[in-house]
Amino acid sequence: MCGIVGYLGTKDAFPILIKGLHRLEYRGYDSAGVALVDNNGNLNVYKTKGKVANLENYCKDKDISGCVGIAHTRWATHGEPSDVNAHPHFSQSKNIALIHNGIIENYLTLKKFLISKGYEFRSETDTEVLVQLIEFMMKEHKLSLYDAVYQALTQVVGAYAIGVIEKGNPDLLITARTSSPLIVGLGEGEYFLGSDASPIVEYTKNVIYPEDRQVIKIERGKEIEIRSLDNEDLIKPEVKEIELSLDDIEKGGFPHFMLKEIFEQPKSLALCMNGRVQKEQKEIILSGVRDHIEKFAKARRILITACGTSWHAGLIGKYLFETLCRIPVEVEVASEFRYRNPVIFSDDILIAISQSGETADTLAAMELAKAQGAFIYGVCNVVGSSVARLTDSGTYTHAGPEIGVASTKAFTTQVCVLTMTALAVAKELKTISEEEYKRIVTELCHIEEKIGKILEKTSEIESMSKIFTYARNFLYLGRGFNYPVAMEGALKLKEISYIHAEGYPAAEMKHGPIALIDEEMPIIVVAPRYALYNKILSNVQEVKARKGRIIAIVTEGDTEIKKQADCVIEIPETEECLSPLLTVIPLQLLSYYIAIAKGKDVDQPRNLAKSVTVE
Ligand code: GLU
Repeated sequence: MCGIVGYLGTKDAFPILIKGLHRLEYRGYDSAGVALVDNNGNLNVYKTKGKVANLENYCKDKDISGCVGIAHTRWATHGEPSDVNAHPHFSQSKNIALIHNGIIENYLTLKKFLISKGYEFRSETDTEVLVQLIEFMMKEHKLSLYDAVYQALTQVVGAYAIGVIEKGNPDLLITARTSSPLIVGLGEGEYFLGSDASPIVEYTKNVIYPEDRQVIKIERGKEIEIRSLDNEDLIKPEVKEIELSLDDIEKGGFPHFMLKEIFEQPKSLALCMNGRVQKEQKEIILSGVRDHIEKFAKARRILITACGTSWHAGLIGKYLFETLCRIPVEVEVASEFRYRNPVIFSDDILIAISQSGETADTLAAMELAKAQGAFIYGVCNVVGSSVARLTDSGTYTHAGPEIGVASTKAFTTQVCVLTMTALAVAKELKTISEEEYKRIVTELCHIEEKIGKILEKTSEIESMSKIFTYARNFLYLGRGFNYPVAMEGALKLKEISYIHAEGYPAAEMKHGPIALIDEEMPIIVVAPRYALYNKILSNVQEVKARKGRIIAIVTEGDTEIKKQADCVIEIPETEECLSPLLTVIPLQLLSYYIAIAKGKDVDQPRNLAKSVTVE
């Protein structure tokens, strides 16, 4: 996680770097720092614990001149969040400064070696070994900075995206990546580095997406130079255009990105379905499925792997594929899957889901399944990300950038992709009748407007949220397709309001959680009217008998659950398999407003970061 930014050009670097850090702050925010080489060649490093705003304050009376610089916003992996562990890190002589996103896995071995050579360490980070190793390479082998970075990286095991600058050289910026994201922006006589495109888009649309194990030299007035660690041949840069616009990454009048993204869901679902769901013909065309339909036809099983919110989307995927396609599905969190030596068959399909496409455990799970011959289908949001590159086929969610740390529109677009995929497969395999298929596709076309109707209830939900800020625990109950929604609702609440919450299959409540219920305990019941409605009604009565306070998500016109519940939020009627796309919306809003009422920082909740690029 963590965000890195870099600049080399003719403008003052500092304001560009700080703006970039603000845009990347969703990736980590426990400390921040910047390094600049001024026009006299002085290398200045400023860093401090806390958010980017702290760093700005800290730098107020400092010399921040210089047209080349690097900056970092950290999500600590090795060493607590502190001033000294913040990046950039200096080398021993303070001639080199480096920022790093990732983990140097063999840092202990390298550290031991460097200590034996007389190097002293100031921080507890894994990162510091890299900058010290670069200095060692420069001194020991009389190398230039670029060659020293190259040689040092041949010794490194792990994940990194780095930026490196040196004292006395305002014309040079070195960068490299393996497994951590990095984009290089190419402007007129200026260059930018970013962990994603957000720090770059304001200045240029032309970018390079470096591949794993590439080391890049950016030198003023010269062509960019790229070499791979695998052979020393020069690599011709492939310049691409970024699709992101500035509006995508600004709050657009909303107080928080999370609220903006909740409200964007009708639009992001429309983009997700665009060109895939044909409204007139009531058809779904997914090239990722159509081109590989024989794989689905012959699949022994579908394995779905993901982490966090994406895992909840995957759980809904199980209901979708088993119901519509009659293919057995197993869903597992990627960090468990990858380490337990799972049984994988060559006729399995592995569906990997990740918003960023950079989730370390999900990538490792994909590699494992790929090595055992499974067909890999990716569902991710970020075009060109590592997940996208590793797949045999897949579908982008096209949700647009998601910046709020608590995922909202990424979730609904993931569920939408899984729904479209299951429908397309079911149609080809004839496991669904033509009539049912058309009916569901027609309903899918109405989902955006139905979400719009739920969003109109925002102020109602906001008032409701105020009643429940006292609670220290919440229970979320759901059944069938809406059981994973209950889990997702609980996760949203935990993430941003720090209230303990659990999502449970409603009937399973009797096997434990019911013991927690008393008159203090709010229980959110996701109970739209489908086949198991009467069963969940009994569960509601069981809660009521124990004086729990019920907030129910029900279908418009419901009368029965309304009688039992303390608060009710109605959602429009839809097909059961599409209902998670609606029921999750009030849960997102409820979490948002509870967190706001408790004064929490919803866009940057403590200890979390957006894309978990470390395992
Ligand atoms: N491993 C480095 C540290 O702990 C970088 C962390 C990151 O990429 O989030 O400082």
